[in-house]
Amino acid sequence: MTTEQTTYRGSAAPLNCACPASAHPEPGEVLIDSLNPAATVGSAVHAVARVMVDENMVPDIDAILQPFGLTPAQTSEAYPLSFAAWDFWKTSGAAFGGGVETEYELRAGALSAHLDVFSMPFNDEDEPDLAYVLDWKTTRLDLDYTAQLLFYAWLVVLRFPKIKRVKTVIVFLRDRTANIKEWSREQIMDFASEFEQRVMRWDGRSYTPGGHCAYCRRFANCPAHAAMVRHTVDSLIELPGPGVVPSVFDFTPAIEMYQRATAVAKLVDTFKEHVRSAVEHAGGELPGANGQNLKLVPSSRDKINAALAWPVLSPVLSREEMAECTEIRKGDMLKAIAAHAPRGQKAAAKDAIMADLKARGAVETTEFTVLRVVQSKPETKEITIGD
Ligand code: SF4
Repeated sequence: MTTEQTTYRGSAAPLNCACPASAHPEPGEVLIDSLNPAATVGSAVHAVARVMVDENMVPDIDAILQPFGLTPAQTSEAYPLSFAAWDFWKTSGAAFGGGVETEYELRAGALSAHLDVFSMPFNDEDEPDLAYVLDWKTTRLDLDYTAQLLFYAWLVVLRFPKIKRVKTVIVFLRDRTANIKEWSREQIMDFASEFEQRVMRWDGRSYTPGGHCAYCRRFANCPAHAAMVRHTVDSLIELPGPGVVPSVFDFTPAIEMYQRATAVAKLVDTFKEHVRSAVEHAGGELPGANGQNLKLVPSSRDKINAALAWPVLSPVLSREEMAECTEIRKGDMLKAIAAHAPRGQKAAAKDAIMADLKARGAVETTEFTVLRVVQSKPETKEITIGD
């Protein structure tokens, strides 16, 4: 089923490929966006990265972040993500050649894409049939991004017939990793015909609910999503018996149940966000049943200014005790170091400080794992961005 007003965006391609119904809301259907504070940080970091690429240097990050009105916590998040973008660009940007474009809009019929970085380099060693596409990611969702990259590549070859190969780079700023893959025209057109067949000519009946429903704007009204949520909740409650928390071994395959449970959790989170928003709009209190109201209760947290507290505490506490109650945030520290260094030497100054701190045993690296759904055979080459 294709409607005239349906448009297809590269950023939605992973979800559309996971469930083609996600691209075809009913006319007049209410679509729900999640209230996502991380999106503000993402927009701010993209703005910084754009200037970094355009000017090929670390810009005045404070000035770029300022219009976004970030909280101090969001600013602390935005800095390391911005520096991760720079760490990638300073070592790999040259491969993109001359004529690099940022925030590049591509359209062809019902298809559209917004490319963070685009170039058709004319490096001596490259045939002039190659294009580069780069996408910065400030969050990593449990989605296979391959479809997004191929969608971008598809638009590039549609718009520029001389392009026969597209190199896609996706940079996960939080993980400090980058996936790089070169696609041939044949691979790109195979994807295009599958996208046209499955997504653009959706049959109007087949839904594929799963963990990806958590990212779909149709989730609130989608019958398949509602059925999946009911089934998942029933399974979680009923399988091991009343009051018993189910074990991973109760579900085969566990990954499917994990993805469904993630979608249910997301539904609950989104509901809570909307309740909070409704209470705010009602002036801070919503009447409920049995004399109970839902109220935004003022609360506070003290934050101690380290510079002013230092002379008060240092005569009383030992250096070790002071260290126990003090934290040096790496992102803020590197920002301050960079501010002291002359232009062009900021990265070297930060590297030198980190090396010195490591040599003195002042850096404790914590290894941790993140639960994520991944492809068993990654199609792309993954590199780690230098720290
Ligand atoms: S909510 Fe899930 S099943 Fe429904 S359209 Fe979206 S992705 Fe498909």
